Amino acid sequence: MSFDQLGAELQARKKQSLYRQRRILQSPQAPEVIVDGKACLAFCSNDYLGLANHPEVIAALKQGADLYGVGGGASHLVNGHSQAHHALEEELAEFTGRPRALLFSTGYMANIGAVNALLDKRDAVFQDRINHASLLDAGLLSGARFQRFLHNDADNLDNRLQRTEARRKLVVCDGVFSMDGDLAELPAICQTSAAHNAWVMVDDAHGFGCVGQQGRGTVDHFDLGSDQVQVLVGTLGKAFGTSGAFVAGSEELIETLIQHARTYIYTTSMSPAIASATRASLKLLQQDEWRREKLNHLIQRFRSGCEQLGLPLMASPTPIQPILVGEADRAMAISAALEAKGIFIGAIRPPTVPQGAARLRVTLSASHTDEQLDRLLDALSDVMAGLEV
Ligand code: PMP
Repeated sequence: MSFDQLGAELQARKKQSLYRQRRILQSPQAPEVIVDGKACLAFCSNDYLGLANHPEVIAALKQGADLYGVGGGASHLVNGHSQAHHALEEELAEFTGRPRALLFSTGYMANIGAVNALLDKRDAVFQDRINHASLLDAGLLSGARFQRFLHNDADNLDNRLQRTEARRKLVVCDGVFSMDGDLAELPAICQTSAAHNAWVMVDDAHGFGCVGQQGRGTVDHFDLGSDQVQVLVGTLGKAFGTSGAFVAGSEELIETLIQHARTYIYTTSMSPAIASATRASLKLLQQDEWRREKLNHLIQRFRSGCEQLGLPLMASPTPIQPILVGEADRAMAISAALEAKGIFIGAIRPPTVPQGAARLRVTLSASHTDEQLDRLLDALSDVMAGLEV
């Protein structure tokens, strides 16, 4: 059997401006990068605090490799659980104010593992309709009855919870929505969930480091505890500047994940050197308040600049500041025109976002300067005027 049909499908994607393509980064994560041999100013990294290339984090990675080697060697349950992993878990538990934390190799795997360890076909899962793909996949894979509620709409959630009989009910949402940048309405969602005896799971991949006291995330920002949010997920590839993820919660939750989360049990542990690096970045993330202050300053400066240019922003208080442009081909054209001016921003298209809601996902980092931000605004002004958006 040939792959002709796949070839035709790929061509059709290209025609619809939906083809995904990788770019080669030839420099470290930073505002000024080299992409495919060309110097650009990047506004599309999730390295929100500028820690991915921090000298102390790099030094800790090297030291971790010296002490524990590069490879995890085996799964956590065989002999891949090093002292560096263990210490990081204890520090993440303290950081999140939960009894325990458990490391996973990626956020995708943390979400799949946690939902599937908790639910099966006797249960029901309720997801905000714009939740991250890994959460949606986790719910679908679990075999639980799957429902999506209207974005940030606790009344709609209430309605659905009321009508559902199930052994267990789990309500799942992002803390900061990855493509829109807004915060989950957690107080209302938690209140509604509690009224129906449902657990709440929050994936705060984009909130940790940026939101809450000392970067303790969206759940901390709303002053909610483990009685309200029983399952708390964080990823390490964004503000932490490393890679991997964790689930934080009660003793019973973490022991249940160790027994049943297949993406925990059947995979090699993350590199212990990465665990060491993350211990250093966790310290910086908490102590360097100036990084959050700088980020908030840049967010305000960007939003007021866009307002002056009449650009359609979303209601986001976070470093994710998407500019809505509508159709996929228009998003691609704007992204290409910006690149010609040395500005690198990804175009986000369906199915990642709904049809007609393609956008430029601008992300800001504490390592950007005012001058770099102004270069972005100038380029946006020229490009948007040229395209009559
Ligand atoms: N959750 C959210 C909200 C995300 O945005 C992402 C990644 N973009 C993930 C989970 C997956 O995390 P990882 O990249 O560590 O697999």
